[in-house]
Amino acid sequence: MSKDMCESCMMPLSKDPKGSQREHEKYCSYCFTDGKLCYEGNDVKEFKKAMVDAMVDRGEGRMKARFFAFLAVFAPRWKNKLSTDEQKSQKTMIKPRQIIMHGTKSTKKI
Ligand SMILES: [Zn+2]
Repeated sequence: MSKDMCESCMMPLSKDPKGSQREHEKYCSYCFTDGKLCYEGNDVKEFKKAMVDAMVDRGEGRMKARFFAFLAVFAPRWKNKLSTDEQKSQKTMIKPRQIIMHGTKSTKKI
């Protein structure tokens, strides 16, 4: 796979209809227009839904749109998001036992 992919939706930037005229170096013209990201939130599920809707609006099949939305989850923009979520869920699943450290306090009277 080419490295030249949109960091938000994984679309090859070579397929961007605006080509090198796109506004952002790392994002395609679908994700980044008018000086901002089309979806600015941090919820990857919402982003996927917005992406599917946008692709269907452009005349793509819903199955195809869902497939690309599935791939988009692996985009750099969402990678960190996912890993922090995983870390969070691991933290809530694994409840660390409270380790009571018996101090080595000196009982010596000075
Ligand atoms: Zn994109």
